[in-house]
Amino acid sequence: MSKIRVYKVAENLGMPTKEVVDLLKELGVEVKNHMSNVDEELVELLQEEISYQKKKEEEARKKQEKTLSFDSLPTLREVAKIFNEEVEELILELADLNMVFGPKDFLPPLVVERLARERGWYVKWEKDLKELTHKILDTKTYPRPPVVTILGHVDHGKTTLLDAIRSSQVAETEFGGITQKIGAYQVEIDGRKITFIDTPGHEAFTTMRARGAQATDIAVLVVAADDGVMPQTVEAIQHAKAANVPIIVAINKIDKVGANPERVKQQLAEYDLIPEEWGGETIFVNISALQKKGISDLLDLILLQADLLELQARHTGYATGVVIESRLDRGRGPVATVIVQEGILKVGDYFVAGSSWGRVKSLLNYLGKTVREAYPSTPVEVVGFSDLPPAGTKLMVVGEEKIAHLIAERRKEREKEKLLKESRPYSISLEEMLAPEEGKSRELNLILKADFQGSLEALEKAIASLEEEEVKINIVYQGVGNITETDIMLASASQGIVIGFNVRLLSEAAKIAKREGVEVRLYRVIYEVIDDIEKAIKGLIEPRLVEETLGRAEVRAIFKIPRVGEIAGSYVTQGKIERGALARILRGEEVIKEGAKITSLKRFKEDVREVTQGYECGIGLENFDDFQEGDILEAYVIKEEEK
Ligand code: GDP
Repeated sequence: MSKIRVYKVAENLGMPTKEVVDLLKELGVEVKNHMSNVDEELVELLQEEISYQKKKEEEARKKQEKTLSFDSLPTLREVAKIFNEEVEELILELADLNMVFGPKDFLPPLVVERLARERGWYVKWEKDLKELTHKILDTKTYPRPPVVTILGHVDHGKTTLLDAIRSSQVAETEFGGITQKIGAYQVEIDGRKITFIDTPGHEAFTTMRARGAQATDIAVLVVAADDGVMPQTVEAIQHAKAANVPIIVAINKIDKVGANPERVKQQLAEYDLIPEEWGGETIFVNISALQKKGISDLLDLILLQADLLELQARHTGYATGVVIESRLDRGRGPVATVIVQEGILKVGDYFVAGSSWGRVKSLLNYLGKTVREAYPSTPVEVVGFSDLPPAGTKLMVVGEEKIAHLIAERRKEREKEKLLKESRPYSISLEEMLAPEEGKSRELNLILKADFQGSLEALEKAIASLEEEEVKINIVYQGVGNITETDIMLASASQGIVIGFNVRLLSEAAKIAKREGVEVRLYRVIYEVIDDIEKAIKGLIEPRLVEETLGRAEVRAIFKIPRVGEIAGSYVTQGKIERGALARILRGEEVIKEGAKITSLKRFKEDVREVTQGYECGIGLENFDDFQEGDILEAYVIKEEEK
């Protein structure tokens, strides 16, 4: 290896010798002075090092140029000014992300960083972030009461329990026990409150969650001791688990002959609800809602569970809440029951709730008493909405009337746009869900419905075997029976898709799936389910596929043709039917077949390519011989979405 003196290297590189010596030192080559000998190959290495350092310097300089420094939290107006944008646009941009701020409001550091990042800026905080935030936004939090929902199978005693709890305090209420039904109520035990949502069952619970609101902290699962675990018990467990809400089990009707609490415990253990005495963590309590036994034990245990959750909320700043019920009152216009989540909701506050807005004209508590303000976890009836907000809508207080109005108007526009786009079905698709999003691990949330427990288990096993390192498959819910509205809402809430195996999609559920943009896939063969999921996981189904409806026909007569199968004598009522297209068969309220290929299409005895509205034809489907008169056949094609 030939050697070269350092000063020569410096000459070659056109750099001062001292810098070269320093650089060599950085690279771990000890040199005494400019007369030292070094390996000739080092020159190349030095050159690389130099260009690398230059690049870094350049980047640092660029970064410097695009850096925003703050020594205090900026207001929204200040941020808009820095970016040279309209204040209103910035308010709306944040409102689209469900963050409501007015021009004079200080923006939290993470929000500033997010806005900056999207515009290609870096943010540098000159002071300790915590200090900055504390000074301006009081982030002190206080304990708040737990909000409880009662779940369980029909007739297991949910309503009776809610009544028993409510009446456990009758004597103490100043109105002699006349509580108003506003959708939620509170009880007080030794000075500590518990809020109960008055609508039992998991449907309302999940609908709210699908709208992005989780009002419930704790779920009480009521199981009748004489009946044991039933289908809706299992549903309730899975819905509560999907929402990550702790479950307290209340074994009810222990007064009944044939009550067997031990059997209930054994059954629930299969769903991972294991009592403490068996080494588990689930709180169990025996009650009789009818005889009002065990109620105070249950309340104590709820408080115990609440302690573990350390529920807290701030008292200062703008209040937020969630709508749990709303109705049109003759005299007072749209009213809604809101459970306050953060801050204190006061009479006179301006607010937005979805695409509705308003000013709190009056607040009524569950005793029907007018109050001036409501603290976190308190249910109140709010008067002063512009329109009826649906259950599950988040309510946010805003500093100014103008802003409340502006945001609500914008959301209304968005809703209209969405309605117009509704013809495009299934906005969350299997493929989309698996498309890797930046910084997010890929997850596939599935809701499985099958005809029998056996097929469900087989399906679950097969799907579990597909899980790969990069893709996590969560089975959010699995159940036996047709696909219902609740399944769709659960899918919507968990951003999942519904897989139906040998089951039907009820028509009401189909409508909701369309509205919520939930994908439903129906299968008859396990192999196809696996194949589809596998393909999706491997990213094979790349282009997004959308459905385009061609037309509809009504089945008026059925002909059985030997060796061909059934031909449906049909009348085209809308659009056209095409040979080779796919068909969906609707029978009354149900979708009974999905995705069957139209293999034969005839007018009189002639094979034709298509038949249009107003004509009769004979239709034969691949692998389908189950037509009935009156069935509606919907023809469609699956196309790659145009970009
Ligand atoms: P939900 O459908 O879960 O709301 O059930 P309900 O609260 O309407 O109760 C269904 C039936 O069970 C009613 O006839 C109740 O009177 C009865 N029930 C509820 N709790 C008890 C109980 O603790 N013991 C007995 N014996 N019957 C009960």
